[in-house]
Amino acid sequence: MTQQAVRVRGLRKTYGAITALDGVDLDIQHGEVFGVLGPNGAGKSTTVEILQGHRKRNGGDVNVLGRDPASAGRDWRSRIGIVWQDESAPAELTVEETVRHFARFYPRPRDPGEVIGLVGLEARAGSRVKALSGGQRRRLDVALGVIGGPELLLLDEPTTGFDPAARRQFWHLIRKLAEEGTTIVLTTHYLEEAEELADRLAVIASGRLVAEGTPAELRDRYGSSATVHWTEPGGRPRSTETTTPTRTVATLMRRFDGEIPGLRIARPTLEDVYLRLSGQSTDRAADGENAC
Ligand code: ADP
Ligand code: MG
Repeated sequence: MTQQAVRVRGLRKTYGAITALDGVDLDIQHGEVFGVLGPNGAGKSTTVEILQGHRKRNGGDVNVLGRDPASAGRDWRSRIGIVWQDESAPAELTVEETVRHFARFYPRPRDPGEVIGLVGLEARAGSRVKALSGGQRRRLDVALGVIGGPELLLLDEPTTGFDPAARRQFWHLIRKLAEEGTTIVLTTHYLEEAEELADRLAVIASGRLVAEGTPAELRDRYGSSATVHWTEPGGRPRSTETTTPTRTVATLMRRFDGEIPGLRIARPTLEDVYLRLSGQSTDRAADGENAC
């Protein structure tokens, strides 16, 4: 397969006077875990809903698994798995009944028992959905997302509201699915999650793509400047932001003729980069630093 799994150009979406998406481009390769990262209201859900074919766009070109979601039919739909932002499976059915029920909607479903095992719910297979914990419910949602054996799985903020342990378990599940070869697109407002899971990520803010790349690329590209801190004679703290910290230190060394009092070099973390890109940067965030 040479074609990308997802190709989006100039995607626009308005809700009345609100512009939710203002010319977004995306390229997602087969087999990739792609993160769409952005603050609340950035346009993440709108993007995913358009990719799923559940929302109409106002402009731009969208191709998902070779088709335009706005006009693609049942066959195409059966190749896509969806984990909604808030899903609730029928509460009275058991886990196994629910998974078997949803399997019937697909032409080539996976084995329900195998999928229940995949999401780690074997021990709860006979439990009613309403008796599951929040994290277990979310794993059931993923089971329903993958029961059809999708080539592409779309997850909208799958771990919002999870405690850290449940989030880590969920990450493990996503990695297992990725190892099976499923292309995964997930939205998140947790930078840590995108950094942990995504091969590549797009940062969106106010309906625009503000950056795209691997987490390491984003850190290198947008976080290349460092802040050099030192103390002036008399005790006054000084700092300067520079892309050539070594040169700055060399200049300071000459000035101080040796040891530089209070020398500290801070580089931005990916979080600083993200906060800056998404327009959430505050003084505190700009100060967030890794002393090195
Ligand atoms: P995210 O998922 O990143 O939080 P959304 O895609 O839900 O962002 O929303 C993007 C913008 O569009 C926000 O300003 C939101 O208020 C607005 N929006 C989303 N859905 C609707 C809707 N059905 N009607 C009107 N405005 C909407
Ligand atoms: Mg959302």
